[in-house]
Amino acid sequence: MPLLHVPTIYVLMLAVMVLLGALTLFAWLQNRAVRALAWWGGAVLVMAAALGLLCLRGVIPDVYSLDLAYVVLFTACALMLEGARCFEGRRTSPFLLLAGAVTWIAACQIPALYESATARMIIVSAAIGSYSLGCAYVLWTGRAEPLLSRWPLIVLTALGGGLFLVRIPLAVAHPLAAAPVTSFEALQSFWFAIVSTFTLLFFIAINYLFLALTKERSELAHKRASMTDALTGLANRRAFLEFGEQCLKAPADGTIAFLLFDLDLFKSINDTHGHAMGDRVLRLFAQTLSANLPRGGVAGRLGGEEFAAILEGPDRQAASAAAERVRESFAAAARVVDGVAVAATVSVGLAHADSEPVGIEALCERADKALYTAKALGRNRVESAVDELVPLVPDASSGHRMPSSEHARAATKRAAA
Ligand code: GH3
Ligand code: MG
Ligand code: MG
Repeated sequence: MPLLHVPTIYVLMLAVMVLLGALTLFAWLQNRAVRALAWWGGAVLVMAAALGLLCLRGVIPDVYSLDLAYVVLFTACALMLEGARCFEGRRTSPFLLLAGAVTWIAACQIPALYESATARMIIVSAAIGSYSLGCAYVLWTGRAEPLLSRWPLIVLTALGGGLFLVRIPLAVAHPLAAAPVTSFEALQSFWFAIVSTFTLLFFIAINYLFLALTKERSELAHKRASMTDALTGLANRRAFLEFGEQCLKAPADGTIAFLLFDLDLFKSINDTHGHAMGDRVLRLFAQTLSANLPRGGVAGRLGGEEFAAILEGPDRQAASAAAERVRESFAAAARVVDGVAVAATVSVGLAHADSEPVGIEALCERADKALYTAKALGRNRVESAVDELVPLVPDASSGHRMPSSEHARAATKRAAA
């Protein structure tokens, strides 16, 4: 006597799928920007409808439990594929949406196909297998985005799709008996219930992973936003200093150059041309800095009109040359901004760590001193730190206190006046 009560399993299966679909749509309602959730929620509900029709084979006319059931089922698969495509930023494809259903309707018009259980199984397997593999492929194409849930989802959809496609040669080699396995008695069979149970578990796993995928993406976006300066798109102070700390703990090629940039007399640019022009100049500097850094260099905005960059590996001459390049390029680019003669310039302080790892604070202080010198010597120039090598110990402090240069710079301004 079977341990599983087959009709109960079907009812349970349908109830769980309706619940999964509804919860996914609910998740979409909470964040409508993630349209993939609407596709997936819809796909699961449509799939539940298809399975409901399939389960009633022998109870309701074949035109519903066979013809219509697979139209609905293939549409559900297509919706799932569109969900994956939407998640990867692709446009809706009416062709893919309708291909499975239209193929099935066409096949139903050919008696030789419609009446052969083997032929039907081949068409069904080919359609479901292709949609499922399509899903895996689309998710694979977006693999550059570091989302962990992507991988089990690719594996599951590829595996599911692969199993359906493997059924095709098996069906050709061992044609199904004349009595269709999809008769009401067969649907009531113990094995069919086992297969359905696994299908349900598969669906629960896929749905969970889809939801996890969208959640991961939004978390990643928040994390990126929290580490990015909104005005310039460069790393913000926290992200930049964290990166610097990492570099200093494990310096590639032994040397590290720290470049500290401060736009010259920036307050007067704001005062003369307005804050919006000031912002424009800040963005221009960020672009110039990014464009002129050597490969592997990382730039950040420390705050206000102060920027910094870390270069791994250059000797003093190369680092100086890189700083000069940024300074010159900016002076050229900011001479006239949006038709206005702004003539903005930047001063640069340069410091090195070239034996053991050095604390980021100590390195920054040295660059800051060099920057004061550059300001005191007339601005729009690069100055290197005087070479007293600081004790080279990784920075254990958690506060990342950067030297507050403003008061000292004010002193140089007073001195210059
Ligand atoms: P120095 O050459 O000595 O560096 O002079 P400075 O005028 O550049 O330095 P100061 O510290 O006196 O002025 C910095 C100005 O930068 C003051 C502040 O209003 C402006 N500022 C800071 N953040 C922003 C910003 O996001 N946008 C704009 N437009 N201005 C900013
Ligand atoms: Mg300044
Ligand atoms: Mg400043």
